[in-house]
Amino acid sequence: MSDIEIIDMFKSKGIKATPQRVVVYRALMELKHPCAEEVIEQVRSKTPLVSIATVYNVLEFFFKSGLINKVLTGDNRMYFDIDVHEHHHLYCSNKHEIADYYDEELSDIIRKHIQEKKIPGFKLEKINLQLIGNIGE
Ligand SMILES: [Zn+2]
Repeated sequence: MSDIEIIDMFKSKGIKATPQRVVVYRALMELKHPCAEEVIEQVRSKTPLVSIATVYNVLEFFFKSGLINKVLTGDNRMYFDIDVHEHHHLYCSNKHEIADYYDEELSDIIRKHIQEKKIPGFKLEKINLQLIGNIGE
């Protein structure tokens, strides 16, 4: 996605395309499930004048605007995810890395199971599973 395309995407969602927002969004696209520190590092390697507070503010703004998701892990770490569509995650508890895991069959099994259970007062909207293990070992 070019900067122009990022700006167009912002416009289509009624979001003002400031240079800081474009550079943070680009960093999120380039990094996969980064933590805030990784986003800051990436942004400042290209545009050193952007402050740490600005990056945090932009990340929070993106989250509130529905542009990104937050992924929390069991060991209390937070990562950002640019893919807001339903998908699952594999979390490596050694490397503290997250990988996307797409498995519609699994989601369907859970959706069907939950419908059959008829949990009182609960309406299932989205299934976001996090599978914890080791990646690449
Ligand atoms: Zn993801």
